[in-house]
Amino acid sequence: MQGAWPATYTDAMTSHLPWPNRFAALGPAFYTELQPQGLPQPHWVATSPACAALLGLAPDWADDEALQVFSGNALWPGMRPLASVYSGHQFGVWAGQLGDGRAHWLGELHGTAGGFELQLKGAGRTPYSRMGDGRAVLRSSIREFLCSEAMAALGIPTTRALCITASALPVRREMMETAAIVTRLAPSFVRFGHFEHFSHNGRHAELRALADFLIRHHAPECADAAVPSLALAEKVARQTAELIAAWQAVGFCHGVMNTDNMSMLGLTLDYGPFGFMDSFNPGHICNHSDERGRYAYANQPNVGFWNLHALAQALLPLVPGEPEAASEKMLAAIGIYREVYAPAEAARWRAKLGLTTERAEDAELINDWLGLLAGERVDFTLAHRRLGTPAARDLFIDRAAYDAWSARHQTRLGFEPAGALERMRAVNPAVVLRNHLAENAIRAAQQGDFSEVERLLRVLSTPFAEPENPQDAALPPDWAQELEVSCSS
Ligand code: AMP
Ligand code: MG
Repeated sequence: MQGAWPATYTDAMTSHLPWPNRFAALGPAFYTELQPQGLPQPHWVATSPACAALLGLAPDWADDEALQVFSGNALWPGMRPLASVYSGHQFGVWAGQLGDGRAHWLGELHGTAGGFELQLKGAGRTPYSRMGDGRAVLRSSIREFLCSEAMAALGIPTTRALCITASALPVRREMMETAAIVTRLAPSFVRFGHFEHFSHNGRHAELRALADFLIRHHAPECADAAVPSLALAEKVARQTAELIAAWQAVGFCHGVMNTDNMSMLGLTLDYGPFGFMDSFNPGHICNHSDERGRYAYANQPNVGFWNLHALAQALLPLVPGEPEAASEKMLAAIGIYREVYAPAEAARWRAKLGLTTERAEDAELINDWLGLLAGERVDFTLAHRRLGTPAARDLFIDRAAYDAWSARHQTRLGFEPAGALERMRAVNPAVVLRNHLAENAIRAAQQGDFSEVERLLRVLSTPFAEPENPQDAALPPDWAQELEVSCSS
């Protein structure tokens, strides 16, 4: 099918030719060019209208031609698919070479919101697939698609997902499943691991070229700094701090915060065994394979800093001067993480409690609130959503403890402008992608009914509004306790 398109193009996607691919200009040291392996007899599962709007696509963009392209069976002229090479630390240990084992970069679309790289995730093996089959299953593709778009609607930096295509092609995981492809987009998919790769292998010319590439296209303000790579490290540290503070505030656990899954743009990247906490437990581990809880909820902020040290180490050859002095400067650059993280997190908790000003007692008020939630394993999303209403009280067994805290909260709100309830509801979502909501959509989709994916996408696109169906904002059912999410996707 490739190269067999008619000579005239009328649809909206192809009018964006010529699919520039600035990453490809870095040269073959950074990637392998290769054709996607398509899904046989593909069909649509879902498309994201919000994502299409971001790209400036026409409402009818998802036609038969687009189906062939986004299922890996065809290319539009100008598309130049490639898989990039990176390395990384997995669970704290140097893992050596990894790379896009199942992602094909197609090129860039420049829409109303700037340029976006498009990637097919699950279009077959690449030179970096190692033991993997290069495929993604329908289950994990629905989770990535819904969560990408849900995070964006929550205002949290993330890669986006344009669509899912699927087919009956069997794929072996713990059970036999079927194949799907998510088309995801980001201004850049460059990871900490890309830098670690070239640094670890002593390829400093490539390391510099990659830093120059990222700065030129995605961090131009760093170009004017005395040492651009230090400015870049600081920028990434800031963005990572803001990102993780945003995760903590909605109870999001990434699940696999390896350095190869860390975005140089501070985006949530590589949705695997992620989870939104139901009942609040700081030690919550969402990834069934993470036996020791390295990536537990409460560890995420420290892991972010740990990962930045790996990045700092990788960028060090770009800092001129004596190694010791260079190292000190680099540590100072990423040290901004701590300065940014603590106030960013505090600001989010204050906002969640309806506070617009800062007072000395706030830290204790917040701490005691989280202690109350943790002590009774109260539902994280509901507790915040109901704050300031009598319904919050129903979530607690120890009503006296809740009442005592609530009285302090009310007193504190007395120092605030009116409208605390509205303020709290504008930052405390009613609906997040709880595992059981995703699971309902997945089970229906596995039976060929994609309406629940579409419906859930719609609900998640306005997370701060009360959903039409109260079940979408309700406590998880008992069976949700048994859901296990692992790395297998
Ligand atoms: P992850 O921890 O899921 O981000 O993946 C770690 C590495 O394994 C990356 O290099 C992925 O591209 C690769 N990988 C994961 N799943 C597959 C798969 N099914 N086929 C090929 N490579 C994979
Ligand atoms: Mg990954």
